[in-house]
Amino acid sequence: GGSSRGSWSSSSDSVISTDSVNPYRVVLLGAGGVGKTAFACIFSGAADSMDSDDCELCGEELREKEIHVDGEAATITLLDTWDNDGECAQECYMQSGDAFLLLYSITDRSSFLRASELRITLRRLRPAQHTPIILVGNKCDLVRRRQVSTNEGRTCAAIFDCKFIETSAAMQHNVWEAFHGIVRQLRLRRDSKDA
Ligand code: GDP
Repeated sequence: GGSSRGSWSSSSDSVISTDSVNPYRVVLLGAGGVGKTAFACIFSGAADSMDSDDCELCGEELREKEIHVDGEAATITLLDTWDNDGECAQECYMQSGDAFLLLYSITDRSSFLRASELRITLRRLRPAQHTPIILVGNKCDLVRRRQVSTNEGRTCAAIFDCKFIETSAAMQHNVWEAFHGIVRQLRLRRDSKDA
């Protein structure tokens, strides 16, 4: 319990986070081929040292890492539904996650529809909780193959009551922003619980 967090701290630059004691479980959800593995590779740092098409080494399903968001450390355990598109597996992840990155590819309308289905399943499985979710339109570098407009993505996120971002894992564009956004949402929820 982090109930002693407060503004009375005498030295403002020595605030120590308690986030790292309790890792946040962030789940990557989405249809096959939308970029979940690519996201996991960037998260784990593997994308810096290898070709993005060659992510065999980061195939393990669970990764833990401390990241810094707004000057405060947070530990994320990233759960990738990689290689596991079965409904049951995704539902297990849905039950155990604290927050979700719901990915689709802007070049694949069926993956956008799949994201909507997953959002509905999430709501059914976790009805009472306000679960942080970001709808992520990946592959925004592939402008000429775009099938889902930015506006459609934004509108869908508004309907589904979640945040929205477009990313390119290939260009490493906005991927960390998505992770940082999910940590900010988790903190908002944490702080409103503490209050
Ligand atoms: P997963 O099935 O959701 O894990 O998808 P992957 O991460 O394996 O990605 C599927 C394919 O799309 C791979 O060939 C990736 O290199 C490619 N890919 C992933 N993200 C992007 C992106 O942002 N832009 C482009 N151009 N290709 C991407």
